[in-house]
Amino acid sequence: MHKLLIGMLTVFKHLFKKPVTLEYPEKKMVSPKNFRGKPVVENCVGCQCCIKVCPTGAISMSEGEFKIDLKKCIFCGNCMYYCPRGAIKMSGEYELATVNKNDLELVYKLGGNNERN
Ligand code: SF4
Ligand code: SF4
Repeated sequence: MHKLLIGMLTVFKHLFKKPVTLEYPEKKMVSPKNFRGKPVVENCVGCQCCIKVCPTGAISMSEGEFKIDLKKCIFCGNCMYYCPRGAIKMSGEYELATVNKNDLELVYKLGGNNERN
């Protein structure tokens, strides 16, 4: 009986607590400061440093274009940390699920920031 009362008291206490979860997708999480979401590239000069430090081979470059394949990216942030120009930022964007796998290939023009995909 004693344990039953403790159990009921615990349930009762939690009835008035603010929930720790969000009503997603109506309400969205604000990404913490150092969150590593979708990589965004701006003013890349094509030095290829990031290609060497990417552990999964997610980055490639060809014909004036810089590509990140999010199917391979593990969001480790190495490309951002080692880029000598600070051209890659890991953004707070985390809603990356898609039914079209082509959407997971991020393409940027070298020297600019016009993403195309
Ligand atoms: S975050 Fe990591 S895995 Fe993703 S592209 Fe950059 S280095 Fe590669
Ligand atoms: S993103 Fe940075 S490290 Fe990668 S090629 Fe461009 S300038 Fe070089």
